[in-house]
Amino acid sequence: MTVRLEWTDPDATPVLGLTATDPSDLPTQLARSVVEFLAGPQRERLRACPAPRCVRYFVQDHGRQTHCKTSCANRARASRHYARNR
Ligand SMILES: [Zn+2]
Repeated sequence: MTVRLEWTDPDATPVLGLTATDPSDLPTQLARSVVEFLAGPQRERLRACPAPRCVRYFVQDHGRQTHCKTSCANRARASRHYARNR
């Protein structure tokens, strides 16, 4: 199975394209999931975690969520506190 993301207009919703060959192929399934995510409504809520030393991305569950997990929010808060009081 070949999966492709057709995204010619960055302001428009991307289009998912599929060509069936072997649906049991793991990389294909992973690529399909990525493309389905990027073509779906959740991509609007994809965020990069701004915490120091965090490289994760997350789907924002609510408007006030700013970090991927609570420990990242705590680390960012401690880092700001440390920078203020140095
Ligand atoms: Zn994080």
